[in-house]
Amino acid sequence: GVVAVRRALISVSDKTGVVAFAQALAARGAEIVSTGGTAAALREAGLAVREVADVTGSPEMMNGRVKTLHPRIHGGLLARRDDAAHMAALAEHAIPAIDLLAVSLYPFEATVARGASPEDCVENIDIGGPAMLRAAAKNFAGVAVASDPEDYAAILADIAAVGGVGVGLRRRLAAQTFARVAAYDAAVSAWMAEQAGLETPRWRAAAGRLRQPLRYGENPHQRAAFYVDGAARPGVAAARQVQGKEMSYNNIADTDAAFEAVAELGGDRPACIVVKHANPCGAALGDTLAEAYGRAFDCDRVSAFGGVVAVNRPLDTAAAEAITGVFTEVVIAPGADAAALAVFSQKANLRLLLTEAMPDPAEDGLAWRQVSGGWLAQSRDARLLEEMKVVTARAPSVAELADLRFAWAVAKHVKSNAVVYAKGQATVGVGAGQMSRVDSARIAARKAADMAAALDLPETPTKGAAVASDAFFPFADGLEALAEAGATAVIQPGGAMRDAEVIAAADRLGLAMVFTGLRHFRH
Ligand code: 5GP
Repeated sequence: GVVAVRRALISVSDKTGVVAFAQALAARGAEIVSTGGTAAALREAGLAVREVADVTGSPEMMNGRVKTLHPRIHGGLLARRDDAAHMAALAEHAIPAIDLLAVSLYPFEATVARGASPEDCVENIDIGGPAMLRAAAKNFAGVAVASDPEDYAAILADIAAVGGVGVGLRRRLAAQTFARVAAYDAAVSAWMAEQAGLETPRWRAAAGRLRQPLRYGENPHQRAAFYVDGAARPGVAAARQVQGKEMSYNNIADTDAAFEAVAELGGDRPACIVVKHANPCGAALGDTLAEAYGRAFDCDRVSAFGGVVAVNRPLDTAAAEAITGVFTEVVIAPGADAAALAVFSQKANLRLLLTEAMPDPAEDGLAWRQVSGGWLAQSRDARLLEEMKVVTARAPSVAELADLRFAWAVAKHVKSNAVVYAKGQATVGVGAGQMSRVDSARIAARKAADMAAALDLPETPTKGAAVASDAFFPFADGLEALAEAGATAVIQPGGAMRDAEVIAAADRLGLAMVFTGLRHFRH
């Protein structure tokens, strides 16, 4: 069960620890065979090394594209040691058996991460390395394989203990080697898909590509990085940052939430949303972007301070002036005209991100979330409002219907439990992230009343508002809270055990209510 190392083939891009490793093997009498660069490094350290070209009788060619791809190498890695015919083939074709392979692959991932040219990236796709790794790992019954400099210590420890590499370690190394090759190919395929503008590669690489190391994570003591998956969806990953400080972890998360939400508002009308801590604190339509921004801002001027602003059409001067009048962390838009850019450039710290287009809210896709020990995957919440079934005696008016639709679209992007009041296609109160729906309803109304007082409005804007709830009202108390705040229309999925009780309460309170048959939890 122990493989003595009489011959080792070493071909490594990452030369970490390779000299000491080769010295230790040579000291035990192993012959070292190497490719050009590795051989040079080992010779420099005083080791006797045989070149792969000497074994194959064929020179390294095509800038290293073809070095080890040769039967004299692959035969020595693949021959079954317990098969007489295999061993006879080695002898017949003068192929030296290789007992240990150490390869570290061309640094493809690092080359892509440093933004190298496509030609450089392609040249850094290792071909011979993975082929040898796969051969040696397949033949773990007779060969030991190191695919990472971190493996050297365990191999030397086994050799020191039992004079060779034991079967347990060979199995583990083989499994790790296939994992390494799989991750490598995943990185190559993700990059190629991106280059090709392929939206959904047939085998979508779960592993992303490093786009940007981040200074820290959600908090300063957390390390973080931004990975992109190569999908062509317009958004924070594909956006071009034209100015401002570096994006932080929280900036990226909030910008994503804001842009995905605003894509669902407005249709052909200008729309704006302001996001704080992943929740909208105001959203509105307007005749112009500047107007939409002003109305969104008025929903909760206090929270909007230091927020992320997303809009659904190219920024113009008026919008740029309105937005830069308030301290804002990030602005994301599908474009900006030259005059708007000039306005933004006055605020050097403000991060401005431009995409070419808006994302399609109805597009299929996967959403991932991590839990301890695994991941949850689900399809995107891409269902749009299809049905509005009137369940009360009174049907919503045309104006109420428009507000119900708007409130519903916003509520989908508010953390549960979500209760959103809207009037004139502007939110006037947002209740987010509460553990009880009635609390969300009350908080939204209270914030609206606070804003009315601060802005000196003649009446609370929740009066006559339409309200959306992301999930059903389990009891009538939530509805009572809405009616108390002056709301007149409600949109919710329906489907509660006590729907009859809730509908009766709505009728008693004079509310018009519609059921969507669709829930939009967002946790
Ligand atoms: P060296 O620095 O020794 O010249 O090259 C080492 C690198 O070459 C390793 O990363 C190894 O995986 C890679 N390599 C070995 N054989 C081949 C081959 O035949 N083709 C290609 N493209 N790469 C190879």
